[in-house]
Amino acid sequence: MPPATATAPPQFDLRQYKSLENDALAARIQAVRASLGPELLVLGHHYQQDEVIALVDLSGDSYQLSQMAADSTECRHIAFCGVHFMAETADILANRPEKLAERDGERVRVILPDLAAGCSMADMAAIEQIEDAWDQLAEVLDADDITPVTYINSAASLKAFVGRHGGIVCTSSNAKAALDWAFARTSRVMFFPDQHLGRNTALGMGIGEQQMPLWDPYADDLGGNDEEALQRSKVILWKGHCSVHMMFQPEHVAMFREKHPGIKILVHPECPREVFELADESGSTGKIIKTVEAAPPGTKWAIGTELHLVNRLKQEHPEQEIYFLSPVVCMCATMYRIDLAHLCWSLENLAAGTPVNTIEVDEETARWSLVALERMLEVK
Ligand code: SF4
Repeated sequence: MPPATATAPPQFDLRQYKSLENDALAARIQAVRASLGPELLVLGHHYQQDEVIALVDLSGDSYQLSQMAADSTECRHIAFCGVHFMAETADILANRPEKLAERDGERVRVILPDLAAGCSMADMAAIEQIEDAWDQLAEVLDADDITPVTYINSAASLKAFVGRHGGIVCTSSNAKAALDWAFARTSRVMFFPDQHLGRNTALGMGIGEQQMPLWDPYADDLGGNDEEALQRSKVILWKGHCSVHMMFQPEHVAMFREKHPGIKILVHPECPREVFELADESGSTGKIIKTVEAAPPGTKWAIGTELHLVNRLKQEHPEQEIYFLSPVVCMCATMYRIDLAHLCWSLENLAAGTPVNTIEVDEETARWSLVALERMLEVK
């Protein structure tokens, strides 16, 4: 994870905040929001804990949040209550050249209240591993006939790699459109870092599992594949996954169907194939929310995505019967690191002129990432 931009030492020490009650922290956060007004946007991902969501200006999925931030004209500071790659994307979009020109070169500062809020999936694909895999693939395949596609849940360095190599970023809502875009250009795709989103999407397009070799970055040679498997490939999948969505299992689906006849299973495409194929409906966090909102009262759901979002849907839709699709608590532990103490600490330092945890993507990486993100917008 790249370090935050160097700044003056923080005026306030994080330790002072850890012993404060949530009510006191919330009041102080509100005071900073009031003093900075529209110059500050506090953004919260759908998977955040409720105490944080109660204090944000906007909530949404990672792409929606970045887009909202990028579109804002008054905003000069963003506190991103999400994970590291989301703050990077917000920095790239909010500070793209035309936006900087509109502000006479003034940057929007993006802060991540706790730098330890990473994403285990994004961390499963380091840029050095991707470059090594690409070089190895070029020895056995025509690299000009492969389009790299990265899920938005990846480091900016991967997005830049994709931009440089004629590829595209996708989200969980436009993965099929991104693959269509890629196949209009080349006969093969390399998809990273989430194998499940890649596999579930490609299977839905009629591509067989035998045409989707899995690239293990820790294998000695060719990601653990033989040359023949790579030559018959359509989509080369990266061996990465979301540790939250991996927890949902086919037996959980069977258990809910048996206990609650008529229940609908609704899952995120980061779930494994075995679960995804058993579900009645699937989609991004945005689609999951809209599906529940549109359902008639009395509908029964077992939902396979992060716990905080499912619990919030349960509270907001008492007219429906909503269950979490696992007997085991699975939440995004890294997202959970953004608590009110970190948010208050980072905002008070921002207001005092000693910002902490600034996420700033270097110019070259931002430029190529933007190329890949803009291609994603074309297929939206
Ligand atoms: S839920 Fe999974 S993919 Fe999303 S931020 Fe957490 S670890 Fe990453």
